[in-house]
Amino acid sequence: MAEQAQDPTVPADHILGVYKRTPLSFERGEGVRLFGDDGEVYLDCVAGIAVNALGHSNPILIDALKAQAEKLWHVSNIYTIPGQAELAKRLCDVSFADVCFFTNSGTEAVELAIKIARKYQSARGAPERIDVIGFDGSFHGRTIAAIHAAGNPAYTDGFGPIPAGYVQAPFGDLDAIKAMVGPTTAAILIEPVQGEGGARSASDAYLRALRELCDEHGALLMYDEIQCGLGRTGKLFAYEYSGAQPDVMMLAKALGGGFPVGACLATAEAASGMTVGTHGSTYGGNPLAMAVANAAMAELTKPELLQHVNDVAGYFVQQLEGLKSRFPDVIRDVRGKGLLIGIQLATNNRAFMQHARDQRLLIAGGGDNCVRLLPPLVMTRDEAREALEKLEKTCEAARAEAAATPAVAS
Ligand SMILES: *Cc1c(COP(=O)(O)O)cnc(C)c1O
Repeated sequence: MAEQAQDPTVPADHILGVYKRTPLSFERGEGVRLFGDDGEVYLDCVAGIAVNALGHSNPILIDALKAQAEKLWHVSNIYTIPGQAELAKRLCDVSFADVCFFTNSGTEAVELAIKIARKYQSARGAPERIDVIGFDGSFHGRTIAAIHAAGNPAYTDGFGPIPAGYVQAPFGDLDAIKAMVGPTTAAILIEPVQGEGGARSASDAYLRALRELCDEHGALLMYDEIQCGLGRTGKLFAYEYSGAQPDVMMLAKALGGGFPVGACLATAEAASGMTVGTHGSTYGGNPLAMAVANAAMAELTKPELLQHVNDVAGYFVQQLEGLKSRFPDVIRDVRGKGLLIGIQLATNNRAFMQHARDQRLLIAGGGDNCVRLLPPLVMTRDEAREALEKLEKTCEAARAEAAATPAVAS
């Protein structure tokens, strides 16, 4: 039989073409290493974009998942779900929060945060307060609400008009946001350390000023700690540096160490509008997710782990500053917090990632011509040294390429 000609508009793999994928695939992972189908071993400083905080194939997480898989996979939130109350208590005990809702992803937690804010205002007699103030360079996921809260035109264009209630502020500019907060403001939504935006930290003073501004105007302060939370910055939550507590906080990524789970945490006051029937989820807080997340949280809250993150992060930054002074033509700036490290480049960041891959080092991209290092939090100093050696070779390759490519602009 003659083979049917492939329709050129249909991708060969039948997968919606929304991902700009790196041509790599992996068979298995172990700790900070990924074993490629190409037979190569890669040092992983992406960790599934800050997800595999406890490394690949972590035996504690494997055991938790296996044990639960043999008992119960799913019932429904119409029943009490094993593990939910335990995880909620764990999260509330170590944070500002009183209550917690479990989701399957980060963006669903953001979606709920926005609902909580509007419902809070509406329940206290101010239904006109619907505005969520977000920031340039931020990322909150891909639901309609999340893309408009972040306001990145690359993610909103073509998806219809901007819905009512989304306002954009310049990140870090206090006067600008002071002028924006008013009688229609429901909440301010901010990443204390921007991830996708290129590892940009809000200053402690700025977060404290946002806290005051919210208190003054009856708005909720909401932190998206989906990427920067859970030990990534060297404290369990990034907001702890400033001491400015939020009313609502979103988590996901490291919470399941690779098992899909997110959470939206709130004070009892902020969540006061969320009564029976106002929200729900089929899979959110499912027994498998709870088993893995409880095991992950027990590890992530160990003081030794945070100490380790600070130690390895300090080493990284010190060594990266050295690389920056040896390669000022390649590295423009080293930024971020803890093991959410951004390197702003003078050369093209996509090309830099390819050069790193040639060294069998995986790094993530980021806004502002950055690359990000987001290694598993359990990466050892020796493994960090190996990553830095590979980064040095990567800088050499970037320099050689820049020398071979005459600059177009002056
Ligand atoms: C990854 C991320 C999200 C979205 O999480 P998903 O699980 O992809 O929906 C939201 N906010 C921040 C800061 C993130 O890094």
